[in-house]
Amino acid sequence: MIIDESQLKAARKIVSAADAVILVAGAGMSAAGGVLPTFRDNEGFWRHYPGLKGRSFFTVASLNSFYDDHSATLGFYMHRKVLYRDTMPSEAYRLSLALVEQKPMKGVLVTTNVDGHAQRAGFANVWEVHGSINEWHCASVNCTKYRKVVELDVPVDSEFIASVNSSCFCDCGQPIRPSIMLFDDIGYQPLSYAMQKSVFDQYFVSLQEKKAKVCVIEVGCGNAVPTQRINSGRYSKIFSTKVIRINKEKESDSDDFLNLTGVDAVKALSSLLG
Ligand SMILES: [Zn+2]
Repeated sequence: MIIDESQLKAARKIVSAADAVILVAGAGMSAAGGVLPTFRDNEGFWRHYPGLKGRSFFTVASLNSFYDDHSATLGFYMHRKVLYRDTMPSEAYRLSLALVEQKPMKGVLVTTNVDGHAQRAGFANVWEVHGSINEWHCASVNCTKYRKVVELDVPVDSEFIASVNSSCFCDCGQPIRPSIMLFDDIGYQPLSYAMQKSVFDQYFVSLQEKKAKVCVIEVGCGNAVPTQRINSGRYSKIFSTKVIRINKEKESDSDDFLNLTGVDAVKALSSLLG
């Protein structure tokens, strides 16, 4: 797939004139270049996790599932934790960091990815809006140890079902959970959320105060959970710019963003770097 040249030219112009970069990243950022698999539907989910056949991703990715289906749910997250740890961050991180480093006022990465790859790639200013799989804690809000980080490592079998043992529970008897925003996590804030958001807010305000020219680059954010698309749209309005949208899925044209879509993030970011 070829990038639309007129859109690329317009995007390059915005990037080259910018003082700072706000990167808004979704699953496609970590999956760029085929480094990590994504599953867009239940069939894809079950292909990667045959032991979870019959359960939907939405069911497994819930706090209730740590109570109702502990070994399968814990197995899923334990496997993801090890997979992310054993996989190098995608090339898209290196390229986007290079973009940020070129700018006098640097930049920030706002991500829904929970794999910790942004920090490993060298990003200093990261807001992980859905939390991190590298932090775990007691699930009970009533526990005195709630939100105290616990190291948890348990083996999983060939179908990624965990061997649940006493280390999977807090002293209070409640399960240990990952600090990730789950689908039934109303009101939950991941452990590092407030601190990261505060750093983000200070940086954001400093850009506004200095009347910085900011480019907003959205990488690999799908439509299924549109939080990140809403964020990039908001940032672009505040800084009077267009969103540079990079997505593997082809998008319909719109005046609100520049379309580097239908290509992998690595190719699109390489084209932007020149
Ligand atoms: Zn507890």
